[in-house]
Amino acid sequence: MIERDKGSVERGLLPVIHADVGDDPHLSRVLELNQVIKHNYHYDAPQMVSCALPGCDVRFELTLIPHQVLYPKFCPRHRSAYQRWLHRRRK
Ligand SMILES: [Zn+2]
Repeated sequence: MIERDKGSVERGLLPVIHADVGDDPHLSRVLELNQVIKHNYHYDAPQMVSCALPGCDVRFELTLIPHQVLYPKFCPRHRSAYQRWLHRRRK
């Protein structure tokens, strides 16, 4: 069965996120690309955040969605592993 409600999947992930993620390869991978932002918005709320890649000053807009806690960590350019690799290499 395909889970259509992303929010409920992420709510299900939360207890795991608070536990040790070290030995869960799938979750480690999810958190490598995403960040957990806890919020209490009951409506879609735009928010400016900074790219998590050291040396990248780009700020980008995320839309915080009710009941969703997982959001991209990198600016749109650096969501590609190749672009992150290139960026680190240039330093
Ligand atoms: Zn970036």
